[in-house]
Amino acid sequence: MKIASTPLARLGPLPQKPVKSSLSGRQVDSVCISPAAEKPLAIGWLARAGLTVALLGSSLASLAGPASPSILLASGPVAARPAEAARLATRLQKVDPAVLQLLQSDGVTMGVVRPGQSFLQTGVLPVRESAEYQAQMPAMRSTAQAVQKATAPYAQGIERLRAQGPSERLGDLQRQRRSMVLDNIPEGSLAVPYSIPSLAGLLHDHDGLHKLVQQQNMPKGTTVMAQLVGARTPAQIQEYTKLVEAINGPRLDQARQAGLQAADPGLIPIDIKGFDILVPDLAYVPDGSGGSARVSLLDASVQAAWADGSGKTISNSSINGQYFYQSRRILVQSAKVSAQTPIHEIGHAVEDSVQRHDPKFYGSWHSKLYTAYQRATQNGTVSEYAGTNPGEYVAEGVAHFYENPTLLRQKDPQLFQLTQELLQKAAQLGSSL
Ligand SMILES: [Zn+2]
Repeated sequence: MKIASTPLARLGPLPQKPVKSSLSGRQVDSVCISPAAEKPLAIGWLARAGLTVALLGSSLASLAGPASPSILLASGPVAARPAEAARLATRLQKVDPAVLQLLQSDGVTMGVVRPGQSFLQTGVLPVRESAEYQAQMPAMRSTAQAVQKATAPYAQGIERLRAQGPSERLGDLQRQRRSMVLDNIPEGSLAVPYSIPSLAGLLHDHDGLHKLVQQQNMPKGTTVMAQLVGARTPAQIQEYTKLVEAINGPRLDQARQAGLQAADPGLIPIDIKGFDILVPDLAYVPDGSGGSARVSLLDASVQAAWADGSGKTISNSSINGQYFYQSRRILVQSAKVSAQTPIHEIGHAVEDSVQRHDPKFYGSWHSKLYTAYQRATQNGTVSEYAGTNPGEYVAEGVAHFYENPTLLRQKDPQLFQLTQELLQKAAQLGSSL
């Protein structure tokens, strides 16, 4: 996969298993990137990103009768061209109209993205203003205090054990401490731990960090931290540093001092192992017209996967499409409107809708699904990509259910059955609206 050359582009994959993400308390639960036709893609993360693309004429919402396949098509910068719209409609004709009705009433739309478009200007990611972070400062500060208080006993124990060398007990304590951090971060918080999963790859990349530190003549650690989240201008670095300082208070300086004493010169000069430093859930991404915008860290990872260093969508992207959970938008690469991608992404949206409308049904259905998924990872399933994670398993189930049911039934009868149950529930929900 060809992605941008900014540090953000080097972010490692997020865990593929459902995790309680610290990022704004959101659930990171599945991949929503379509497989490339020839070769399944193993990008392991998604974001519940937001889009602002308008619905195609709200009057369509009041149309009576069976849903027309075109009801999901977006307007605005990601509107399909007539020929693309026709192809998408042909594709979506295979889907049960009642299922489309459910998605339409939930505000799901489908847009087409072309190479060279500004990813941010497609409206797919919510942009945050500086004021949002300022307004959240008291809450972020008290979160940081709660985290420090909760983890202090673990930090002391870890320090003692570390002096004695590696041990199992040390690993246990580190895990416990990590979960104490996450437990003390409220849902929707704009403060996140510095060592969030998406930065983990970089934090272990001592060479990369060391280079960054050298380029900046050993700045204080917050400069490097700011650079890691895409800050380029002095104003951005200053803004970021001020936020990190305000959130963590004197704790930050203690961590700096401890970091400077560390023997390993490749380490960032902030001791993140000994101190739980929180950072704003903030990254700076190129807006496609020479400037940049503030977005959530997780959304920045999405942007980096779709766009080049200047924020333009890349021409030979191996990402075929994506469903954005937060805003309920689907983006499909223009070259993939005739592929399985649109229905694959519909699959993600259907799962999401059913979960929102009928959590009870979803809970019991998903536990069966999870068991089937685990078996499928051993025995094989309808496509290699379906084995990526449970979310892709479902989306591939839905895509094949409509596109090639015979193959699905043959390769993975359990997934066929479970997909049918999910779609029946979705159709039932859609019909009753
Ligand atoms: Zn997917």
